[in-house]
Amino acid sequence: MRIVPHCGACMQPLKSSQHAILDDANGLIHKNCAGGRMIKDQGTVDELIDRHPKWLGDLRKYYPKRNFKLIK
Ligand SMILES: [Zn+2]
Repeated sequence: MRIVPHCGACMQPLKSSQHAILDDANGLIHKNCAGGRMIKDQGTVDELIDRHPKWLGDLRKYYPKRNFKLIK
């Protein structure tokens, strides 16, 4: 069974492009599931992993960076 990072509130998987928040326990939660939680930061899951490598860096392996082709 593959473990996929999931929302701490609704327990559904978090997708890299979904809007999420980082709560005061450094957990990721969908923005729509945040309710009255304290929000330390918000953005897409991908952006939050990039901005908080200390807390979320381990999640990067589940969300590999896309390879962009350089157009010359
Ligand atoms: Zn959720």
